[in-house]
Amino acid sequence: YTGKTTLSFISEKIKGIKVADVKSIPIVVSEETSLYDAIVTMFLEDVSSIFITNNGYISGVVSRKDFLKNAIGGTDLHKIPVGVIMTRMPNIVFVKSEDSILSAAIKLIEHEIDSLPVVEEIDRDKRNYKVVGRVTKTTITRLFVELGINS
Ligand code: ADP
Repeated sequence: YTGKTTLSFISEKIKGIKVADVKSIPIVVSEETSLYDAIVTMFLEDVSSIFITNNGYISGVVSRKDFLKNAIGGTDLHKIPVGVIMTRMPNIVFVKSEDSILSAAIKLIEHEIDSLPVVEEIDRDKRNYKVVGRVTKTTITRLFVELGINS
């Protein structure tokens, strides 16, 4: 018996978990994809946000509300590409595989967003990053449940 409280035990455990240990597969489409096709992808893949790439590198993120905003605004969903409405670099909040999952959760809370792309840096000066995964609020909730069950 170490004398540790349950909370400090859980916090010790969380601090040892990396993004790489819990990240899931990212759903990615290119900037030229129409809003219509991107919305269909969102439904088929059952995700709440999609990452957008240009020449293979991440250039943006679109979420449910981005699509809703344009749909109710009367945008022609078949004509407008997703690159026009996405939140774009350099404003994308991301994490790397080697980051702690705690720092990812803090970013989700502080920026009030649902998901973070996990990226690999190809060229920092050119802001070229490849998407290698995703961390969402569901990722954190699943981890919370696992820690609760297994401790
Ligand atoms: P929802 O639109 O379903 O509420 P979010 O809360 O994740 O989903 O998105 C809110 C806004 O933040 C959207 O405009 C979206 O484009 C943007 N956004 C989502 N994820 C990120 C991110 N990782 N970095 C920067 N902006 C983001």
